[in-house]
Amino acid sequence: MTNLEKKIAEAMKSIARRADVKTYVEQTPAIYQLLQRAAAKYVTGEKREDGLGAGRQLADKGYAISLEYIGENTADFHACEAAALELSLLVHALAERGIPARVSFDLSHIGLSLDGNLAYKNLTALAALARQAGIELFVSMEESAKTDAILAIYERATSAYANIGITLQAQLNRTAQDLNALQPIPGRIRIVKGAYQEPDHLAMPRSSALNERYVQLVEQAIRIGHRVSIATHDESVIDEVIKRGWIHEPGVEFELLYGIRPDLSSRLKKAGYPVRVYLTYGREWYLYLCHRIAEYPPNLFQALLDITSTGQADPVLEYE
Ligand code: FAD
Repeated sequence: MTNLEKKIAEAMKSIARRADVKTYVEQTPAIYQLLQRAAAKYVTGEKREDGLGAGRQLADKGYAISLEYIGENTADFHACEAAALELSLLVHALAERGIPARVSFDLSHIGLSLDGNLAYKNLTALAALARQAGIELFVSMEESAKTDAILAIYERATSAYANIGITLQAQLNRTAQDLNALQPIPGRIRIVKGAYQEPDHLAMPRSSALNERYVQLVEQAIRIGHRVSIATHDESVIDEVIKRGWIHEPGVEFELLYGIRPDLSSRLKKAGYPVRVYLTYGREWYLYLCHRIAEYPPNLFQALLDITSTGQADPVLEYE
């Protein structure tokens, strides 16, 4: 990244943390609608039907699917319950339509910001429903201040429900230890680099050292016997995983975000590797958009183009 790109990335990450900016965007229809045009590159739409429709099309093209109902840091009890209800309706809809998707979410969307027990209650209720439908749930990983709480709820819930997986962030210095502690739990592990800005003493920035650590974590997870989702768009990491033959291990797959590098997803699928696309829907797309620009600042220019363009591209069409 150039210095300017680094500054844009930092600015986007701090804008993402500003609740006042988020509220302003959400309450100003003209700005909301403009930014929504940029978000459409990465988010299927605001409604469940948007996620299901795009998911169906990608499943028909031969991709495995994850679907997230976006939202985090929900601090109102009724909004947490509404999010849990929406996720249960999503599980029902996937089962009814026979779309083989995994359902992903943040625990802070279903109660963690208020009370860990509320998140646990909602997670286990969803896990029971998903188990009946043969669907796997996936817990996302949030800022490091929440890592202990998320892992504790995950471990507690998986003692009764094996159909839940967990995301771990390679950027955090603690992750190799966390991975070892998860050894007895059968759930799938998704390894990501990490989207949040973290203090230097807790995390490693994007670098070749981080890529090496990522690859080591993949090896560690496979050796322990986990099924692993290699969730990155970094071709050097992906190439290393292919070179070492790990992608042929049982339960190992690549997982990429919807709208990001569809060419790479298409190429990996054509080469015969298992590829999953991670789709999102919902009204809380604002933070998600900030993260996607922060990770790759040239996306800011793309966002400006999308805002000013008269048509709207359909990212699904970019997947072959
Ligand atoms: P980077 O080093 O960030 O990027 C490598 C290359 O990939 C870039 O040079 C660029 O070519 C391409 N690229 C990366 N991002 C973009 C982009 N936005 N637009 C265009 N090109 C891009 N993070 C969490 O903290 N918690 C989670 O629970 C979580 N869940 C995730 C689930 C999935 C399936 C995926 C794929 C990511 C998830 N993330 C999560 C985000 C993740 O932490 C990274 O922020 C994100 O994947 C970008 O990092 P990267 O591994 O692609 O590598």
